[in-house]
Amino acid sequence: PPVIYWTRRDFRLSDNPALVAACASGAPVIPVFVCDEVVEGLGAAPKWRLGLGAEAFAARLDEAGSRLVCRRGPALEVIRALVAETGATAVHWNRLYDPDSRRRDEAVKAALKADGIAAVSHAGHLVHEPWTVETGTGGFYKVYTPFWKAVRGRDVAAPLAVPRLRAPEQWPPGDDIAGWGLGAAMDRGADVVRPHCVIGEAGAQGRLGAFVVNRIGAYAEDRDRLDVDGTSGLSENLTHGEISARTCWHAGMRAMEEGKAGAETFLKELIWRDFAYHLVHHTPHITTRNWREEWEAFPWNTDADHPHVQAWQRGRTGMAIVDAAMREMYVTGRMHNRARMLVASYLTKHLLTHWKIGMDWFADCLVDWDPASNAMGWQWSAGSGPDATPYFRVFNPETQAEKFDPLGRYRRAWVAELSSRPPDTATSYFAAIPRGWGMAAGDPYPRAPVVDAAEGRRRALDAYETRGF
Ligand code: FAD
Repeated sequence: PPVIYWTRRDFRLSDNPALVAACASGAPVIPVFVCDEVVEGLGAAPKWRLGLGAEAFAARLDEAGSRLVCRRGPALEVIRALVAETGATAVHWNRLYDPDSRRRDEAVKAALKADGIAAVSHAGHLVHEPWTVETGTGGFYKVYTPFWKAVRGRDVAAPLAVPRLRAPEQWPPGDDIAGWGLGAAMDRGADVVRPHCVIGEAGAQGRLGAFVVNRIGAYAEDRDRLDVDGTSGLSENLTHGEISARTCWHAGMRAMEEGKAGAETFLKELIWRDFAYHLVHHTPHITTRNWREEWEAFPWNTDADHPHVQAWQRGRTGMAIVDAAMREMYVTGRMHNRARMLVASYLTKHLLTHWKIGMDWFADCLVDWDPASNAMGWQWSAGSGPDATPYFRVFNPETQAEKFDPLGRYRRAWVAELSSRPPDTATSYFAAIPRGWGMAAGDPYPRAPVVDAAEGRRRALDAYETRGF
């Protein structure tokens, strides 16, 4: 009888522990992807991108003489039905750690076990699983630097080779992913965002290779520059498991041994991703509620239709660095890390708006959306999270812009109104946005920001003071 390999966010053949375990049993392997309750709940861009990732993985499995059986419905029902149809004796998957996935997976595991089916989960999404890193007293880390110190010298097992997949004698029927309409809510998917994506395992490996050859050396200096393409771009692939974090870790270690200057900084960033999952595992409320209880009383604006929120989402705040970043995300599905910190700070501090509104907008727009990194990033920026910027430190968007975009290249690349002959990137934004936003390329740029740097700082500090922070 066959065994089932259930893929969720691990669209790769190399270094895939669940797939290797399924193949090692010697039985035929049926790879399965389910459009389940967790997938249905995704925001527009992440759902669209996940569908493309699954399609690319299906093609990769085809080349390897296998297939991806795609079904739609609640995970438990679908997996159970497949087990019954195929007579499979085991189901293997790689663990995920966000609350929605955990709830689903725990239910599936319990039900399969009760049916007498082996339900086996594996570690494949992170460099270090959340519970394998403990403080000296057996607790969890709330601050990044000691977390990093605890893991930096650890041995990390070598990536696993691509296994040989044995096909079953008969394939169970499945759907065509394209027919599911996972991109239905993503109006600008194919034309606008798609050219900025790198999809699939080969693309992800190419990205890592090019980064290690061309950019890792200067990464420590360049990674904060908004006007320099200095980072790896791998978050899009890591979030879909098109490359394993462990593979990236080993590439960074090799670069460090070769004396490449920025390699250690890259490894540290990679471990931020593990740290985000460490926090989500130990304090799952980080994805939904203020991590620090006292922030529940903070008088955030919670009106998602507030004109300030709309201006922020649409890149029309009049604060050019913020607008550039928001437009970059709308067009490319990504945003530079420094820019994420800046726009998050502007929304939560200058505009005194709840971080959840920003987090949700990111969850609708990002092709690298990750439940843990997004929640941690937002709470960190707002000041309500663990290891946050001190809440009273309010980024000044203007001085940040001078520092990280000194010649204004990044701003001009995305804000058409700033140039007489704007570049294609900037004009592509106006082609991408919905008509209902009432914005056109020829509109004059706001003469003043909705809330300027000094006023925003004062408002935020006043709000902290009146609340006794
Ligand atoms: P590189 O600089 O090349 O870094 C390599 C890898 O390290 C990244 O691919 C990523 O996996 C990891 N990494 C780097 N910085 C961080 C970080 N601060 N936190 C966690 N992991 C990190 N990242 C996401 O992947 N998905 C999100 O939804 C997301 N939302 C964010 C929201 C906010 C408000 C903030 C401040 C940050 C968010 N980040 C998120 C983290 C970070 O901005 C991105 O991981 C990074 O910009 C991705 O670009 P890169 O792959 O070129 O990164």
